[in-house]
Amino acid sequence: MTDAEHTTPAAPITQDVMTIPRKVPEGLPNIIGLTRDALREALVAIGTPEKQARMRVNQVWAWLYHWGVRDFDKMTNLAKDFRATLAANFIIALPEVVSKQVSSDGTRKYLVRIAGGHEVEVVYIPETDRGTLCISSQVGCTLTCSFCHTGTQKLVRNLTAGEIVGQIMLARDDLGEWPEPGTRKYDPRLLSNVVLMGMGEPLYNFEGVRDAMKIAMDNEGISLSRRRITLSTSGVVPEIARAATEIGCLLAVSFHATTDEVRDKLVPINKRWNIETLLNTLREYPRLSNSERITFEYVMLKDVNDSDADARRLVKLIQGIPAKINLIPFNEWPGSPYERSDWARIESFAEIIYKAGYASPIRTPRGEDIMAACGQLKSATERARKSRKQIAAEAGLD
Ligand code: SAH
Ligand code: SF4
Repeated sequence: MTDAEHTTPAAPITQDVMTIPRKVPEGLPNIIGLTRDALREALVAIGTPEKQARMRVNQVWAWLYHWGVRDFDKMTNLAKDFRATLAANFIIALPEVVSKQVSSDGTRKYLVRIAGGHEVEVVYIPETDRGTLCISSQVGCTLTCSFCHTGTQKLVRNLTAGEIVGQIMLARDDLGEWPEPGTRKYDPRLLSNVVLMGMGEPLYNFEGVRDAMKIAMDNEGISLSRRRITLSTSGVVPEIARAATEIGCLLAVSFHATTDEVRDKLVPINKRWNIETLLNTLREYPRLSNSERITFEYVMLKDVNDSDADARRLVKLIQGIPAKINLIPFNEWPGSPYERSDWARIESFAEIIYKAGYASPIRTPRGEDIMAACGQLKSATERARKSRKQIAAEAGLD
């Protein structure tokens, strides 16, 4: 499939191009993405008296993250000259939405452009009891998991905290979910959960992800509970304990194999931190983060990792770890070197895990008609891609 085909959806998908022009002065720092502490420092640096700083942070914060206001002049409880000082020193900028596609199942995929002209994808998945936003943390990825489309792209750069929390904000814009100043919060929320399962390895952009999630979890703003945010990692062991103490959200791990031999091929970071090392670290996570359980993601690849013996090994390996196993039917992408396991195979695998006492939901692929499913995200404009042959060779498949 070519890039052009990739972004041209077939009926019944709708696509609106909603490029939002933002009139922003060049060169000013973005106020979006500053943590409370950083915002305080920034306000003091532009002349806010120390004694007032705390109150000013609270006021500006509420406008930005509770009411979703994008114009300093609308911050009506601030003195006019202070609003002007803010406007002279900062911009309020979000990534620019280049296009939006809506799947027949209601899934929305946004292609967003960030500084430098790079693009990442953001996916909103509505369900009956929740609405989940899947956000990206990097343009491309340094890792090269052989079944992942993003892994075929080189890392371009880390997203800033503003660009990460900005994805949540632009989705709330599109969903019309900012309360009118003076009114109550929306309940239930359309955007109730966030998963860091888009493009990139979140733990290789630790500070950006941490600061963005702190903003998203702040009670006075977007106010998502830490139990409604799930960070998915391929297994960057040294950063896992840090994520527990410094972010405290739920953790998902791209496990995908039950022997080092197979995991080395699927998730090459396993050569650095193998299954045993990873599991030892995971055992500590629930205590350190005070969370209930870890999600083990397991992509179902035909004849690669989907046997009954694999399922039995899996439950043995994770013994003692409070866990849920999320089985992901492989989402094929153009040139992918694997096939999705048959449905009966996936069910038989799930059954073994379930009987061992673990929840084993099979993830329903969503938004397949717009290539919005897990692991299919990519940036249509990034040309630095590997060939199919190279992917297969690195996966040890040739
Ligand atoms: N980099 C992080 C988060 C992004 S990927 C990580 O690897 O965990 C989110 C999930 O989708 C991961 O479990 C990933 O392994 C999985 N995934 C990647 N490509 C996939 C594909 N083509 N089909 C199904 N799942 C895939
Ligand atoms: Fe990167 Fe995750 Fe894809 Fe692996 S699965 S290449 S870590 S985005």
